[in-house]
Amino acid sequence: MMVGKRVAEVKPRSRRYFLPITFTPLIPIDIASIYHGPLPKRLALCTPDTKAAILAVAGDLNTLGFGLRLSDLFRSHDAQQQAHLDFVQGRKKAFSPAAGGSMHEAGRAMDIDLSSIGVPLAKFWEIAAARGFTPIIDKPDPKRSESWHFDCRGSHDLVYRYAASGKAGTVAAPYTQMAQSGIAAIGVVLDAVQAQDVAFLQAGVIRLGGDPGKIDGVMGDRTTGSLKDLGADMDAPAAWMDAKLQASFTVEYGG
Ligand SMILES: [Zn+2]
Repeated sequence: MMVGKRVAEVKPRSRRYFLPITFTPLIPIDIASIYHGPLPKRLALCTPDTKAAILAVAGDLNTLGFGLRLSDLFRSHDAQQQAHLDFVQGRKKAFSPAAGGSMHEAGRAMDIDLSSIGVPLAKFWEIAAARGFTPIIDKPDPKRSESWHFDCRGSHDLVYRYAASGKAGTVAAPYTQMAQSGIAAIGVVLDAVQAQDVAFLQAGVIRLGGDPGKIDGVMGDRTTGSLKDLGADMDAPAAWMDAKLQASFTVEYGG
């Protein structure tokens, strides 16, 4: 079944879609950058919990006499796709996944200027972890590609762990599925799924501890069953999910 009668409407210009719910907001942040002045407005957007985490890390570094400068934060769907093409076609050295697979698109990843932090990278990992950031590589080696990238996973970490446990198949890597969940949560279109509203529900079910399988935007028996297991209102599952997510992950909505 579909979600009510109001199926997702794709708005191509903004690459956002419509659901009668509250998405996790993207809010502006004033933060130093590697460019002249603060991070440019089109990049300086993130979720409320990510903003709090960035400002907390910056404050910790300030206390130590150092600072935090960013080179990247939010990327639109189209900016991510362009970064991916630049990598594939050799114009950019650092790996960039295709649109739909980066936490930057969810407003949940920052790229930092390693020369700004003052402390050794291993020490920065401790500071960042205490504020809710997860590095994307496995050892604090500043020579490694992506040593500058940190994710504020929030509740989407549950999607990572769900996928890593094998319950969501192997079509997409656990990191990709986590990014899909984060992107769906802010209402941006996922090219890889069939119906945006169903993908939003599936990711929400996983974040609430349910077992819908992979995020594919198809309302199959497993997805329906997982919603019923959570006690969802099957007449209005999107509205039910909206309320449940807002109540469960208050800080991600700015509460
Ligand atoms: Zn990055």
